[in-house]
Formats: sequence, structure tokens, C-alpha cells
Amino acid sequence: MKYLATTLLLAVLLLTGCNQPETERTEWALALHGGAGTISKDIPDTLKQQYYDGLRQALRTGEIILREGGSALDAVEYVVRNLEDNPLFNAGKGAVFTAEGKHELDAAIMDGSTLGAGALTGLTTVKNPISLARIVMEESPHIFFSGVGAEEFANQTDVERVENDHFFTETRYQQWQRAQTGEANNYPKAAWTEGDYFGTVGAVALDINGNLAAATSTGGMTNKQFGRVGDVPIIGSGTYANHVAAISATGWGEQIMRNVSATTIANYMEFNGASLDEAIDFVLTQRLNPGDAGFIAVDAYGNISMKMNTAGMYRGSIDSNGNRVVMIWEDE
Ligand code: ASP
Repeated sequence: MKYLATTLLLAVLLLTGCNQPETERTEWALALHGGAGTISKDIPDTLKQQYYDGLRQALRTGEIILREGGSALDAVEYVVRNLEDNPLFNAGKGAVFTAEGKHELDAAIMDGSTLGAGALTGLTTVKNPISLARIVMEESPHIFFSGVGAEEFANQTDVERVENDHFFTETRYQQWQRAQTGEANNYPKAAWTEGDYFGTVGAVALDINGNLAAATSTGGMTNKQFGRVGDVPIIGSGTYANHVAAISATGWGEQIMRNVSATTIANYMEFNGASLDEAIDFVLTQRLNPGDAGFIAVDAYGNISMKMNTAGMYRGSIDSNGNRVVMIWEDE
């Protein structure tokens, strides 16, 4: 009798799952960044306001999609498109100048539920590189196109095209001029500490179906040499999503690449049972050097982490529990 009662109790517990309390999942969550680096606190109030407004507007774009049951993929694509169109950020319009005085754009998108990915480097005429990256992911047998081939791929789609000078802004032009003279010639460290690089954009999301996605877009680093490829379009370095987490990086691309940073964060969680915060801390403190980078990430439970070892990172996040933040510096 006693044996029967115990067996019945165990069966009930197993069936209801009561013996395994699950960590509760936030319905949906979204984080974005607009670049990390040496962001001076002395920037004029009006400019500060423009940055906050830009971040809020992009968050709102993603919020509408996720709140209405849209996919994480749609959310990250449209948030990044919004930031690409904002001239304050180093992606799409507002991209930095190459050493040759042009704009060459990199972008990548990844679907954590399928490990599908699309990436491009060296684009010169595509207005919104992130949308072309999504087409690469969904319509091509390949993952990554570069330069002439990337433009050729774009010719076979109906993505909007522009002249290269569409991406021009006076601020980026001045930064390029500075990078070509004096101390800043010590590429890239000097101009990096001057604060002339930041502005890459990225987004990560978890949707109500539990799918994760990540997207990143950039003009790269000011004064970069011919054909330089940064971390952003390298799947696993600047952009990564799987069943554990979605991550988008910003910062000194060569350093982020060397440490395959985004994948290392996801793997550190999976292999060590670490939290998202712990995994990002590991990469920021044990793999990268102070001043190198920042990450935004969301895990399968909707936990959000936005951390950097730089003075600032334009960033924001929102989730279905009503948490909403927009920040620039560390101590906000
Ligand atoms: N990571 C980008 C690159 O190296 C630059 C940035 O995030 O500011 O291309």
C-alpha cells in the first residue's frame, strides 16, 4: 500500500513536472546597441538627446514587432534598419570612411532556432545591408558574400541601392581627416582612444515562440585599409545566435575576432552552466583588454545583458515585463 502511494505520487510529480521547477521565461525581450568606445561625457546636451531619442525610436520598432507576436528575426532586422538609417550611427548612412575615402559596409544576421546565417562585407551601394544579409540567409545556399560578389548578389535582389556618397556625413569626414594625420596614424589605437570609431549597431531578441536572433551592421573602423574585414560579418565573432543565447558585439574588431567573442559567450554558458552575465564578464575580463569592446545579449529565458569594458556604449533594452532602459555610460 505504502509502495503504491509513493509510486502514484512520483507519477503525478513527473506528469505535472512539479519536481523540476523551471526558470520562468520572459515572454519576449530585446536589446540593442549603437556602438561602444571612448564616449566623452562632454558631448552637448542636444546631441546627447538625439542619441537617446534614436535609441528609443529603434527600441520602439522592435517592441511593436515582438509585442504583436512577431519573430525575433523580424525584430532584429527592423531595429538594425532603423539604426542604419540614423546618421548618428556608424552603419548605413553615417558609416565611417575607409583609408581610400569611401564607405564599405559589413553586416550579419543569425537565426538561433535554425543556425541559419547571412553575412556581407565590403558593400558599397546597398542602403540597408542588414536586409540583404537576411536575403543571403533565406535565399542563398551560401552564408557569406564579399566585395564585388556581394554587390553582384545584391543585383539579383530588389534591395534599395544608393550612390556611395549617400553614406557621407560631415562628422565622419572630420574623423577620417583626423585619422589621417599625426598621432591617429597609429592605427587603430590612437583614433580609438580619441573616440573616433564608435557607432556600430546591433540588436538581439527573444520572441514569444522562444526563438533567438542576432543582427549587427557597421561601416567598420575609420581609415581601415583596402578590403579590411571586421568582426561584425564573421559569424561567431561579432554576431552569433543559437538555442542558448543571441549576441551582438561592438568595439575593436581585430580583438573581438581573435577571441571569437560572441560564440565564446554562448559556449561558456553551455559548457560551464554559467549565466549570461558571467559569460560576458569572462570574455570582457579574461579574453579582451580594457577598452576593447562591448556586448549586448539575450538568453533563452529572456535574461538581457549589456556590458562593456569601454567608457561607454550606446544601448537600450526592453522586455515583456515592462523593463525599459536606454543608456550611454557605465555609471547611469
Ligand atoms: N567592431 C567594428 C569593426 O571592427 C567597429 C565597432 O564596433 O565600432 O568593424
